[in-house]
Amino acid sequence: MLLNCFFGKILKMKQPGFTTTSLNVPYPKPDPHNALHMPLYEAVAFEFDSAEQIEANFKGEYIAHVYSRTSSPTVEYFELKLKALTGSHGVIALSSGMAAISNTILALTKAGDNIISGSRLFGHTYALFNQTLAEFGLECRFSELRNEKDIEKLIDKNTRAIYFETVTNPQLDIADIEMLARIAQKHDILLIADSTITPPNVFRAADFGVNIEVISTTKHISGGATSFGGAIIDHGNFDWTLNPNLGSYTEKFGKNALIAKIRKNIYRNTGGSMSPQTARNMSQGLDMLELRVEKCYQNCMVLGSYLHSNPKVTVVNYPGLEGDPGFDAAKKYFKGVPGTIISFDLESKEACYSFMNKLKVVRRATNLGDNKTLIIHPHSTIYAEFPLEERAAANIRDTMMRLSVGIENVDDLIADIEQATKE
Ligand SMILES: *Cc1c(COP(=O)(O)O)cnc(C)c1O
Repeated sequence: MLLNCFFGKILKMKQPGFTTTSLNVPYPKPDPHNALHMPLYEAVAFEFDSAEQIEANFKGEYIAHVYSRTSSPTVEYFELKLKALTGSHGVIALSSGMAAISNTILALTKAGDNIISGSRLFGHTYALFNQTLAEFGLECRFSELRNEKDIEKLIDKNTRAIYFETVTNPQLDIADIEMLARIAQKHDILLIADSTITPPNVFRAADFGVNIEVISTTKHISGGATSFGGAIIDHGNFDWTLNPNLGSYTEKFGKNALIAKIRKNIYRNTGGSMSPQTARNMSQGLDMLELRVEKCYQNCMVLGSYLHSNPKVTVVNYPGLEGDPGFDAAKKYFKGVPGTIISFDLESKEACYSFMNKLKVVRRATNLGDNKTLIIHPHSTIYAEFPLEERAAANIRDTMMRLSVGIENVDDLIADIEQATKE
């Protein structure tokens, strides 16, 4: 509301672009000094003018920050920015991507319920579903999420959601999001996307029928791997009366039922809040997100073509490149920008290790969405705990490396890769 009014007055033009929006989201309250950066409020608790005002606050009649584990001004500002940038109904910021995922599932399910999830998942999400939450009686039904009929066979009256990652990592398979949305709508269940790999400047989740997004803001959004964070984004396009576990929250809060249950119950009671300092990093990260992702994408395109031309490289995967199996889906869903990871193969595991050890500009580390270009050998690291046949089933080859492409000058990256592939 405030945002529309602001842009209506100042810009008198069509909906402003991503970065313009990010730089101009109004503060929740005017700053007494007209600071051009949202101040960092490190306070734990907030004072009230009177006993009556505190009572009104606890009754929900007077909205104000009380104690920073539940909400605080700098974190609220980051949430408002992400809400404006995603055009969504509600946003909660949390201490990590895993906190965003676990809070969401805890709010939506109870023992005896089930969710359907893609089987190629971020490792700790897989462990959360398969171990941690399984021990509390939640069943996760894993599926490749490729065949509509097979997915529908997994749905029963206790199914609460379909959960998927927009692009799997490191395989770089792109989900058939339109098919998943069709199934979810037909069966009145929620569609949850982990869109970490495809940030909100390239992926408009609600346009494709996604109800809830969970994001590890640690990655692209933090602005170069500065801090840990996560976000839950509610697109306001699901009828919460269809989920029996939101009961009294639906009656009291209507469209805000999920956000209210998470904020007033799961988030508060499990202590997964984002710190104010982190929220400040994240807000700044959003201002430069579009710029950074565009540069990473340009680097991916140049590096991808270069890797195709390098005779030592046997396989190259980047769905932004024409000829890649994911190219059309990347165009349809992500404006042609399917994240900033390239995976590629050399002839053997030994060749990969020798190559990685010679790199000077590219860093050996497990992260993605950093400003720095990072490389890892997934088969021997991220997937090391998986039995060999499971690694094979997930298409994790011991000849494959994952390159998370940063913002360096691309000529330096090419020169580094070139020298490391020489004998
Ligand atoms: C990193 C990551 C997570 C977990 O996020 P953290 O911030 O590390 O807790 C979840 N999903 C995907 C796709 C990720 O890349």
